Amino acid sequence: MSATPKPVTRLIEELSRLPGIGPKTASRLTYFLLRAPAEQAQSLAEAIRQVKERTVLCSVCFNIAESSPCSICSSPDRDPTQICVVEEPLDVLAIERTRQYQGLYHVLHGAISPVEGIGPEELKIRELVQRVRNGNVHEVLLATNPNLEGEATAMYIARQILPLGVRVTRLARGLPIGGDLEYADEVTLAQALEGRQEI
Ligand SMILES: [Zn+2]
Repeated sequence: MSATPKPVTRLIEELSRLPGIGPKTASRLTYFLLRAPAEQAQSLAEAIRQVKERTVLCSVCFNIAESSPCSICSSPDRDPTQICVVEEPLDVLAIERTRQYQGLYHVLHGAISPVEGIGPEELKIRELVQRVRNGNVHEVLLATNPNLEGEATAMYIARQILPLGVRVTRLARGLPIGGDLEYADEVTLAQALEGRQEI
């Protein structure tokens, strides 16, 4: 029988399942929490619970939000004729930080990746095409990541949207190839938005 109490083993296992956390880090975090004040551990547990209970996917843009439609989709200050398509909710935050974009968003929740078995059906692409069909959209700005999967996804979407007679643009080069949008600095990302190109 293991000398480690079951609750300790369980927390280590749960933490190990998180991205970027190996067994060593999971153990370190677990023993940190064991020594931390009870309130700190409870506050963390409560925050994890609430992140699931008090958030929804926006029914328009599929961003994670406190209500649906989200605050961006329902804002009268945003331009509803522009839709910026991103892979992940964190990419919305990155673009918002530039303060250069006033349109709406569409979050795909991933990118096309044959290696990982992710096809277009697994992403919110059909919903995007429907959104554009429903009207009043003048430009779809493809802001998927500048890597293989992101490019493939952008090309796939462009093929679906262009026949609808809507302007389709792609973020300008200058973003590090193979990189992630969420890690791009604000200036680079602002320039990429500014210099977006027709597809
Ligand atoms: Zn929304």
